[in-house]
Amino acid sequence: MKIVKTIDEVRTQVKEWRTQGLSVGLVPTMGYLHEGHASLIEASKRDNDRTVVSDFVNPIQFAPTEDLESYPRDINRDAQVVEEHGGDLIFNPEPKEMYRDGFVTFVDMSVLTEELCGLSRPTHFRGVCTVVSKLFNIVRPDRAYFGKKDAQQLAVIKRMAEDLNMDIEIIGCPIVRESDGLAKSSRNTYLNEEERRAALVLSKAVFCGINEVKSGQKNCKNILDKMKGIILNEPLAKIDYVKMVDAKTMRQIETLDRNALCAMAVYIGKTRLIDNFFTEDIL
Ligand code: AMP
Repeated sequence: MKIVKTIDEVRTQVKEWRTQGLSVGLVPTMGYLHEGHASLIEASKRDNDRTVVSDFVNPIQFAPTEDLESYPRDINRDAQVVEEHGGDLIFNPEPKEMYRDGFVTFVDMSVLTEELCGLSRPTHFRGVCTVVSKLFNIVRPDRAYFGKKDAQQLAVIKRMAEDLNMDIEIIGCPIVRESDGLAKSSRNTYLNEEERRAALVLSKAVFCGINEVKSGQKNCKNILDKMKGIILNEPLAKIDYVKMVDAKTMRQIETLDRNALCAMAVYIGKTRLIDNFFTEDIL
C-alpha cells in the first residue's frame, strides 16, 4: 500500500495497472476513516483488481461558518485502516495540489441539490461535484463507491455521472452503524458523552420510520410526525430537517407511491448529524 500526494503519481500508478489489464475502484473520502469507509474499501476490493482511496478534506465543500479547520485528520491512522482492508493506494493531496492558483472551474447541479442538505448548505454540492469530477478525471476508475449514509450525495453523484456521460459505475453501499444504532461518522468525535447519548435520537427516529413504512403507512406526514416526535423529546437535539423525498429527484413527496428517501439532519449541540433510509431497501 502506497500513499501519494500528487496527481502525477496517481496517474503513473493507475497507468501501470491499466497496462497490466487491471480494473480500478475508487473510494472518495475526507479521511479519519472508520468502519463505514472500510466497508466501501471492501466493496471495491470485491469488484476490482485495485482500489484507490482518496483522503482529502475538500475545502470548497465547506461554507466559511463550517468545520473545515476542526475536521479531524490523521493520515497515519487512515493508512492503517486502508492497509488492513486491502486498499492499494491512498491519494492524500494538499489543497494547493487540487486547486492550483487561478482555479475557477466548478461543476454545479440544480434540482437535486435544492432540497435537504442543499437548503442549509447551499454551496456544499457544488464543492462535492467539483472534487468528485476531479477525482474521476485523475483516477479514471471503472467503479466508484459512496455510502448511503450521505444519501443525497449518492443521488447527486449518480445524476452527475449520468448527465455528464462519465463512464464510471457509481455504487451505493449500506450505512454502517455503531452497536447502539448511531450511524458511524467522522463527526461523531465532536460529541461529548451527553451528546453521544442524545445523538441516538437520529437512529431511533430512522428505525421508527422504517417500522411505519413496513407496517404499510403511506402518508408521509404521519411517518415524519412520529419520527420528529422522537427527536423533539431530546432537549439537546435541534431539527434542521426531517423529510421524505423522491429518491431520484430529491423533491418532497406526500404519499409513498415510489422509491423514496427519508432523510434527516439534526444538530446535537453544535454538531450537525445526518441519517436516513431508502424505502426500496426495506420493502
Ligand atoms: P466522508 O469521509 O465522511 O466524506 O465519507 C466518505 C464516504 O464514506 C462517503 O461516500 C460516505 O457516504 C461514506 N460513509 C461515511 N460514513 C459511512 C457509514 N457510516 N456507512 C457507510 N458509508 C459511510
